[in-house]
Amino acid sequence: MHILLVEDDAALAASIAGALQAQGWRVDVSERGEPVPRSLAQDAYDLLVLDLGLPGIDGLETLRRVRESGWLQPVLVLTARDGIDDRVAGLETGADDYMCKPFAPAELVARLRALVRRHEHRRAGVLALAALRFDAQGLRAWVGEQPLALTARESVVLQYLMAKAGQIVSREQLTALVPGWAGAASDNALELLLSRLRGKIEPAGVRLRTVRGLGYLLEAAAPDGR
Ligand code: CA
Repeated sequence: MHILLVEDDAALAASIAGALQAQGWRVDVSERGEPVPRSLAQDAYDLLVLDLGLPGIDGLETLRRVRESGWLQPVLVLTARDGIDDRVAGLETGADDYMCKPFAPAELVARLRALVRRHEHRRAGVLALAALRFDAQGLRAWVGEQPLALTARESVVLQYLMAKAGQIVSREQLTALVPGWAGAASDNALELLLSRLRGKIEPAGVRLRTVRGLGYLLEAAAPDGR
């Protein structure tokens, strides 16, 4: 794997680069965001690890330019600010995952491996998150090797949530998936469906979070289950 790491703290960059190189991965480090879109266009990078607090243009603006340039590989955002606002902004701008500093290098390595796996599965038409898999062609889902019994509506909603894993999905986006579910009358039906879905998928090590006022977020559960 070839990774571009954007981090202006030289000591932290060296420690992260060391952990990634220990996996046999190639790592290039940039201290600033401005040259990043060009670097990604010039070299075949598999992943971008991007600090948000940078001199010059910040990480969010860098990410916006990267996605605008059409680069589609996974991006993991590093942030010292653990506020929900930064996290939401990062995910909405096109990050696939984020980590709050300080973090253990081993956890970063695990997150990056998971990101790449998810990306490869997605290209093969199979959506995967933790032990949850969804075959978009056959509309079938599994928790580990165990097939999951889903209603047609649950299938459609789960497929959408998995395709957008790590991103916030609004209530309107979800209700639009089900014919005849437009308008406020559908809110209770959606809540009910999501609560049944949670019971079915959370044993796979995923979490379907309610993000107040914004919508829902499907993500891998933290190792401690939170
Ligand atoms: Ca920084």
